[in-house]
Amino acid sequence: MLNNMYRTLKIKLDKSNELIQTAKLWNAACQDVMDYGFAAHDYNKTRLNKATYKDLRDKYPTLPSALHQTARDQASDMLKRLRFEKKPFKHPLGAVRFDIRTMKVFFGINNIAVCSDNTFWKSGPVKAIKGRYQYLRSKLQSKGTRSAKRKLCELSGRERRFQRDVNHNIANWIVSKPYDLIALEDLTNIRNGKKNKKLGKWSFAELRSIVEYKAAAIGKRVVAIEPRYTSRACSKCGFQKRENRNGRTFKCKSCGFQIDADLNASRNIATFSRSDRSRLPVNQPIVAG
Ligand SMILES: [Zn+2]
Repeated sequence: MLNNMYRTLKIKLDKSNELIQTAKLWNAACQDVMDYGFAAHDYNKTRLNKATYKDLRDKYPTLPSALHQTARDQASDMLKRLRFEKKPFKHPLGAVRFDIRTMKVFFGINNIAVCSDNTFWKSGPVKAIKGRYQYLRSKLQSKGTRSAKRKLCELSGRERRFQRDVNHNIANWIVSKPYDLIALEDLTNIRNGKKNKKLGKWSFAELRSIVEYKAAAIGKRVVAIEPRYTSRACSKCGFQKRENRNGRTFKCKSCGFQIDADLNASRNIATFSRSDRSRLPVNQPIVAG
C-alpha cells in the first residue's frame, strides 16, 4: 500500500523553455568537464573543480552555481565509470542532475512530503484514515458513557501509532534517497490551517525527529530551511517578493523568470545549501551526524 503513496511528476518541457535551456547548458558544461578530465586523465572532483569551475562560470554565466557543481559531479562519475578507456559523451538534452547532495522536502496539504526530485508522498490515503478516526471519535464523544470514554482512549492510542508508523515509512523513504544532505522546511512557524481538517494535527515535528535520527544513523545530514525566502525568492535573479509566487506558478516581478513554484524553491534550496554548507556544522542546531 505504501508504495502507492508517491508518484513521479512529469513536467511538460515544451511549455517551459527555461528547463530546456538549463538542460542544454548543464549538459554542455558536463561535457566540457569530461573533455578536460579525459585529456588530463583525472576524475577527482576537487581537481576537476579547481581546473574548470571559473572558466565554465564565465562560459555559462546563467547556469546557477549549484548546477555547475552537479554537472562536474556527473562528469566525474562518468569519467570514473569508463576508466579513461573511452571518452564519455553526454547527450545535449540528457537528464539533469539537479542536486545529488541536496534534497528539499516540503510538507503540505495535498502531499505530506514533496521532494525536489519530483516525488511526492501523497496525503490522500492518510487523510481518509484520519477522517475515519475523526468520525469514530465524534461518535464516541457524543455518547459520553464510561465505555465510550474507554474506547475513545484506545482509539487515540491507535491513531497515534498509525501516525507514527506512517512517519517512519515517510522517513525511510526520505533517507533512502541518494542524497547526503536533506533540507527540511522549518515548520515551526507553519500552522496546518483550516483547509487541512482531515489531516488534522499531523505531527511534522515527530516526522522531522525520525528523519533526523534515521539520517544520523547512516551518516547523512539534515538541515532546516526557512521556507518563506525559498518560495519567494527568484532562483534566477534573487529578487524577493511575496507576489512572485502565485499558487503553483512562480513568476519573478523583477526579471520575468517563470517556472514551477516548487522547482524554483528547490533550486533556491540547492543553492542555499551549497553556499551554506561549510557553515552548517557550526550554526545549525539540528544537524545530525
Ligand atoms: Zn528574477
